[in-house]
Amino acid sequence: MEKISVIVPCFNEEEAVPIFYREIIKVAEGMDGVEFEFIFVNDGSKDKTEEVLRGLSEMDKRVKYISFSRNFGKEGAMYAGMDNASGDYVVIMDVDLQDPPSLIPEMYDIVKSGEYDCAATRRVNRKGEAKIRSLFAHAFYKLINHISQTEIVDGARDFRLMSRRMVDSILDMCEYNRFSKGIFSWVGFETKWIGYENINRSAGETKWSFWKLFKYSIDGIVGFSTAPLALSSLMGIILFFVSIVGIIFIIIRQLIYGGSAYGWPSMICVILLVGGLQLLSIGILGQYLSKTYLETKKRPLYIVKNTNIAKQDKNKKEV
Ligand code: UDP
Ligand code: MG
Repeated sequence: MEKISVIVPCFNEEEAVPIFYREIIKVAEGMDGVEFEFIFVNDGSKDKTEEVLRGLSEMDKRVKYISFSRNFGKEGAMYAGMDNASGDYVVIMDVDLQDPPSLIPEMYDIVKSGEYDCAATRRVNRKGEAKIRSLFAHAFYKLINHISQTEIVDGARDFRLMSRRMVDSILDMCEYNRFSKGIFSWVGFETKWIGYENINRSAGETKWSFWKLFKYSIDGIVGFSTAPLALSSLMGIILFFVSIVGIIFIIIRQLIYGGSAYGWPSMICVILLVGGLQLLSIGILGQYLSKTYLETKKRPLYIVKNTNIAKQDKNKKEV
């Protein structure tokens, strides 16, 4: 019998977990001939998420949980889930029902047919989201697709069903600064996109502040493009030519009109401009350097505090 592992990152989701569980078992029961395992990754929640998960796992042996020692972020949680999944197929989804479980049978059929290795979802609109947030999101996707070779689909969610071989190749990418939207695309394989309308959270609140999203977008750009590094060389070349023209202009003016005490304010402006561009370039360098610094430390992507997954089961496919 084929097995689907459903990975669910949870961070302070005590209210959402029971609602999610009720919905997902309905879908699981509707799918004959497929076995399920539900891996809830408790990403250092401060509320009762762990108790709720332990309760569920005592009731239903398909429920597995992994509790982190602190909050490692959704990226770490997804990695831990995949690392511990034993299924032939892996589904990643949010616990807040913004990713409708009812799509799973359709996604399973798509990947099972063998034509695709991944059935992924994308939001066709951002209804219910703050206008300014959508605006920044669209701008981010435009920018990153312009400067990165890896295609990052606008509105793509992490909600997807993947084949075992795709999951294994994602696990091979053990980089510390993870940007999954890029990683899913970077590993290749055929992906079938399913569009659906944005759905609001079932319970609780979004865990992504504007600042957290902004930092995540920087991770995406630095992780999947080196174009910003080339920017400083480009600015340098442009400024070089501008200054040559300026020098020629000043020499000619001096020869024809004499007197040289002009242009003090404009000189200050130029100094400020060039100084600003230099600082910007150093800042960009710093971004890449800091990411490289963190990568070289080879820190673990997550640390487990409690789990009901036995060590020998980890990542072993049952035959
Ligand atoms: N999440 C997590 N760790 C975090 C932040 C979020 O595991 O540090 C989980 C969260 O519990 C949820 C999913 O990631 O299952 C998506 O988070 P959320 O719904 O807050 O994001 P949004 O849908 O608003 O983008
Ligand atoms: Mg959500």
